[in-house]
Amino acid sequence: MSVVVHQVARPHGAPSPEQFAYLEIPTPVPAAGQALVENVYLSVDPYMREAMDSDGLGVPMEGRSIGRVVASAAPGLDVGDLVFHRQGWRSHALVTPAEVRVLPAVPGVPLTAYLGVLGGTGLSAYVGLTRIARVQPGETVFVSAAAGAVGGTVGQFARQLGADRVIGSTGSPAKAKHLVTNLGFDAAIDYSAGELSAQLAAAAPDGIDVYFDNVGGDHLAAAIDALRDHGRIAWCGAVAQYNALTPPAAPRNLFDIVGKQLRLEGFLVRDYRHLQGELEEFAVPRLRDGRIMTDETVVDGITNLVDAFLSMLHGGNTGKMIVRV
Ligand code: NAP
Repeated sequence: MSVVVHQVARPHGAPSPEQFAYLEIPTPVPAAGQALVENVYLSVDPYMREAMDSDGLGVPMEGRSIGRVVASAAPGLDVGDLVFHRQGWRSHALVTPAEVRVLPAVPGVPLTAYLGVLGGTGLSAYVGLTRIARVQPGETVFVSAAAGAVGGTVGQFARQLGADRVIGSTGSPAKAKHLVTNLGFDAAIDYSAGELSAQLAAAAPDGIDVYFDNVGGDHLAAAIDALRDHGRIAWCGAVAQYNALTPPAAPRNLFDIVGKQLRLEGFLVRDYRHLQGELEEFAVPRLRDGRIMTDETVVDGITNLVDAFLSMLHGGNTGKMIVRV
């Protein structure tokens, strides 16, 4: 038997467990041209909250997954191959060769890195820094949700790209300490501890050059306050507003973008998949020699998938939230 996890109802505000159902179904059998993959790791991501408002009900949530081929009627896919695919919330998946990437075994690179630093997480960080903000050596970079998957990677990549000062914000003192102690940030802000603009001004007395926004709302306003003239904002996400029932107000200081001649640019990582090879050239040697670390929270068991997803939305993760099937 195999397990699939369906969304069965729409959320109104924050999602909750009763909007999902775990079902046992017979393990599918590959037809000609297909392979059966037994999933090993599943990714849970903030975009899935937005998908809950629009994707189909009664089907597994789409998502990034890593699994092992256990039966194959597909040329080029052999039993034992480890593959990346996007069939999401299920223990087993039928795939065709065109739908998967066979993952290389690289010494020193854990398999989970292909859901984190070498996956959509790492590509988002890399694109935001190199193509959107175009960070330069010597600059000061601020990133929000910094103890999460993308944010922690942004901090580490920014340092490797020559940033002089890297500042992160997160929601607890323990996570703030983690940023500085383990991920090499120069300073960390606990947004639950007080007004953001004042905390950011204290952490970056000379201002910031780049803001990598994962949160939106008051974080964006605080960053606009702190940005120097001609600073850049790479807008990746707005996790503070995904559960909002009414559209959030624009930042109070939005017009300062004109006065400071700032550039604010949003991006979707899916338009930059052609940079995957460049990301790996950048990140793999650094992962292998320890200049970059994988940071992840691994939850065991597909029956804890929904809890892991909901927990991640509320900051229950440090680094990439991953479920080990
Ligand atoms: P993540 O940061 O690992 O997990 C979400 C984090 O958001 C939580 O750990 C929590 O950390 C923080 N958070 C939750 N509610 C918050 C609030 N009200 N205010 C401030 N922080 C809050 O997730 P991720 O996968 O790395 O994604 C980060 C952001 O990037 C998300 O906005 C996501 O949608 C976006 N993203 C965009 C793209 C793209 O193509 N544009 C691609 C990937 C991700 P704390 O404990 O610090 O609160």
